[in-house]
Amino acid sequence: MIDVIEYPSANAAVYLDLLPPATAHHLAGLSKELSGVKTLHINSTAYGGGVAEILHSLTPLSNALGVQTQRVVMTPQDVRFFDVTKRIHNMLQGAEGRLSDAELAIYYGCLDDIAAEIEQSDLNADIWYCHDPQLLPLGVRLNGRQAGARIWIVHIDLTHPNPWLLDELLPLTGAYDAMICSLQSYVPAGLPDGLDVFIAPPAIDPLTAKNDAMSPDAAAVITAALGIDAARPLVTQISRFDVWKDPWGVIDAFRMARQSHPGLQLALLGLSQADDDPEGAQVVQSVREYAAGDPDIYLYFSPDGLPASNDEIVNALQTHSQVIVQKSTREGFGLTVSEGMWKAKPVIGGNVGGIRLQIVDGESGYLVNSADEAGQRLSALLANPDLRHKMGQAAQERVRQNFLIPRLLDDYWQAGVQAHAHALAHAPPK
Ligand code: UDP
Repeated sequence: MIDVIEYPSANAAVYLDLLPPATAHHLAGLSKELSGVKTLHINSTAYGGGVAEILHSLTPLSNALGVQTQRVVMTPQDVRFFDVTKRIHNMLQGAEGRLSDAELAIYYGCLDDIAAEIEQSDLNADIWYCHDPQLLPLGVRLNGRQAGARIWIVHIDLTHPNPWLLDELLPLTGAYDAMICSLQSYVPAGLPDGLDVFIAPPAIDPLTAKNDAMSPDAAAVITAALGIDAARPLVTQISRFDVWKDPWGVIDAFRMARQSHPGLQLALLGLSQADDDPEGAQVVQSVREYAAGDPDIYLYFSPDGLPASNDEIVNALQTHSQVIVQKSTREGFGLTVSEGMWKAKPVIGGNVGGIRLQIVDGESGYLVNSADEAGQRLSALLANPDLRHKMGQAAQERVRQNFLIPRLLDDYWQAGVQAHAHALAHAPPK
């Protein structure tokens, strides 16, 4: 099934005001180049996880800046599709193994169905942005009147991909005019000749309820409503319950820091379990056992979808916490890092993937290689409010300069302009 998601229009001027002037100017130039061009983003979940988060903001902003943009979500008929694509996700991040023929048949079969449905619909665009491995096989299946430029955007940490899977999937990129990775170091070797590769690290929307400035009092009220003692120190990790986010390591670091800071509390918030991530419940169960009934560890999990207040809860916990943790062992980017930094908080992040791009170690947070290291940094930060303040200010400025959503739109548009020209140059004669 395919669904088009409609958004109310955004106020572009407010975003432009937040940007360095050169970025705003560049964006305006690109929007002129793309005027009259239709763009479309397609991914596999309407909510939950970073991609949905980005598209939710990027779509209305793109329209507000004058480039007609649609957001489409695919829902597979076969419920096993997401089990397969979660395996693909894990394998692209380094998990061992191979997909069975049956799994590949589910994967490709679902995309055949989606492509057929697209062909029968009135969807069309000049530039198709297909997100993540879930949509990778679509490129070669798009044809006829819908065909325009095709861009595959991969948001995954591809530092240690499973070689068998890479061999299976990389030929599919040959159907695209361009590919976008979050970091240069993720670009896989062996891509087809002629495929343009762009680098576009993700970014956050500063104007959503999740990221807009929240007063300390409002944050304390929401934190208390969650059952947390707002008068005692708090450290938070906001993440889907996923093995790569290492919630166990966060608990270890918390327990270590609590020895020198009795009264410390930990919140692990994973309300946004994505539709396309079926493993969450098992991870929650394991983390719950690991927390062993500790009354100062708060786990929040929502198997029934995102509560309406999710964004305010995320904002409140990030605003109220003394320190934010994102102790991932693999992380394509990690929007939660920029979200925490935007709240002027020091973030302790795993020294991996996109987290390394966001945190300048020792300046705007800390990069850590183990739970012990995280625990030591956490203790030191809790003991030093001046350091927390200084790092927090540096963190917020770093996000302003580099990781706000108009910059990402600019990157996507640049890739779009080039891919569009490429597609026109290679279009079959009429
Ligand atoms: N998120 C949320 N509520 C939660 C947990 C996560 O809204 O309870 C959001 C989080 O704020 C971020 C996104 O989900 O915007 C996760 O993106 P990230 O890049 O950090 O990780 P991903 O889930 O894509 O691996």
